[in-house]
Amino acid sequence: MLQDDHRFLYRAIDLAKEACQLGNDPFGAVLVLNGVIVHEALDRSVELSDPTYHAESAVIAEYCRSHHLFSLEGYSLYASTEPCVMCSGAIHWARISRVVFSVSQAMLQEITGGRPKPGCSDILNAGHRTIEVVGPLLTEEGLAALVGYSETLSRIERHRKRFSTDYDSASPFDNP
Ligand SMILES: [Zn+2]
Repeated sequence: MLQDDHRFLYRAIDLAKEACQLGNDPFGAVLVLNGVIVHEALDRSVELSDPTYHAESAVIAEYCRSHHLFSLEGYSLYASTEPCVMCSGAIHWARISRVVFSVSQAMLQEITGGRPKPGCSDILNAGHRTIEVVGPLLTEEGLAALVGYSETLSRIERHRKRFSTDYDSASPFDNP
């Protein structure tokens, strides 16, 4: 089991590096059923002009939509970094059974600064069901995907550069 956990986490970390190379945030996730990767996703928030397009939410949404599924009970989700509050919500609603992550939210905060954010276990296990949460795991490898992250331009700055969006003059009344 541990060997499999490592293998799937390595893949999630590789996806995180790929996301970074594409100008997105360095996060990746894979969905596993019965020891097999059934879907994988990377953060594409900047690329798709979608601030909610995180790897974990995306891997759930893309897979459920394409397979007409509404519950992922029995599935495991592997994430290069501990899922954020939004993605923990998605994991809860999708009824995923197990979450494994590399870098913790606390470790991420040390890199990015700012106020501490809640870990996913508290959010995931606030309801009736119990979701198994494993991590931090392979943190040296997971942190390698975040090298330079704190020095890169913010998401909004990267988006501005990419799409030449002038946020300062944007008005909600521009479009009828
Ligand atoms: Zn997220």
